[in-house]
Amino acid sequence: NRQWVLNARPKGEPDAETLRWVEAPAPVPGEGQMLLRTVYLSLDPYMRGRMSDAPSYAAPVGIGEVMVGATVAQVVESHVPGFAPGDWVLAYGGWQDYALSDGKGVANLGASPSNPSWALGVLGMPGFTAWAGLKEIGRPQPGETIAVAAATGPVGATVGQIGKLMGCRVVGIAGGAEKCAHAVDVLGFDACVDHRGDDLPGALATACPQGIDVYFENVGGAVFDAVLPLLNSRARIPLCGLVSQYNATALPAGPDRMNWLLGQLLRKRILVQGFIIFDDFGHLYPQFAREMGDWVRSGRVKYREEIIDGLEAAPAAFVGLLRGENFGKRVIRVG
Ligand code: NDP
Repeated sequence: NRQWVLNARPKGEPDAETLRWVEAPAPVPGEGQMLLRTVYLSLDPYMRGRMSDAPSYAAPVGIGEVMVGATVAQVVESHVPGFAPGDWVLAYGGWQDYALSDGKGVANLGASPSNPSWALGVLGMPGFTAWAGLKEIGRPQPGETIAVAAATGPVGATVGQIGKLMGCRVVGIAGGAEKCAHAVDVLGFDACVDHRGDDLPGALATACPQGIDVYFENVGGAVFDAVLPLLNSRARIPLCGLVSQYNATALPAGPDRMNWLLGQLLRKRILVQGFIIFDDFGHLYPQFAREMGDWVRSGRVKYREEIIDGLEAAPAAFVGLLRGENFGKRVIRVG
């Protein structure tokens, strides 16, 4: 059983010391357990938080423990009712070849699902995050303008496409011309601005002539600074993620603009609401699964994933995800 275990808590960007490669015998399932063989491992920005022991909404991975992560796996041997050898499952097996499970929190995808890895993206946690954050907090009305960054990732791409289905103008923000072209030409966004370009505030203002009514926040940093002056009165900000800050080792450079920012929020009556998807909206999952399943099957919501071969490649692929080197949902094909 090949595994990546947490070796040291990173300071800044994870490096060669952060994770350690371990090989151990495959575990043997006991009474009430099943053995899962990982086929796909999801890489997600939240994993940076689990490497850290700073206070958070979830416990950190312990030093020496297998790095956590969602997996699509096949059942090898089962003593759990409802799961048979060969079944595909959505589980939380972590960065390893084999995992034991008692079936709790594991979804059976059946014997021959089409596109099983999509359960890690548009049809799973990231897609649900987009759907619930936009509908429940963003509450867009037809004709309003939605802005979303990380626009070609699994959350941002889904936010924008749902926004189009709800009759909104959708403006993406993404890193580079190729991602921006994808957002407009394939995903159907009205416009997409390259945040690595010379004049992000100016380009975003041009793309949002009516201002911004819903800003789905995935990244923070310079993108938030460009969005803020464009926010309309009574704008809503689903505060989903701040990936530009996940490797930060210190507070941002001054001056401290906190009270100026609060003044903006006050005068414009802006709603900012953070959310942690399953804690806050878990009860809506069945509704999401039905609606998104229909949209994906009918081609109204499109999905791009980027599959990287080999468990060995996972640490570097994860660092690249936080840098924006991914183009679409990043998944490791383990076996
Ligand atoms: P992505 O696949 O979109 O990957 C992250 C992307 O962020 C990169 O590809 C890059 O895209 C962009 N990015 C990185 N650094 C910067 C920067 N400095 N400025 C602007 N953009 C940057 O990730 P996901 O779709 O999986 O997740 C998107 C966000 O949603 C993350 O913040 C994540 O933590 C959050 N999230 C929150 C959940 C919750 O419950 N609250 C649940 C799931 C996800 P580009 O090159 O286009 O800039």
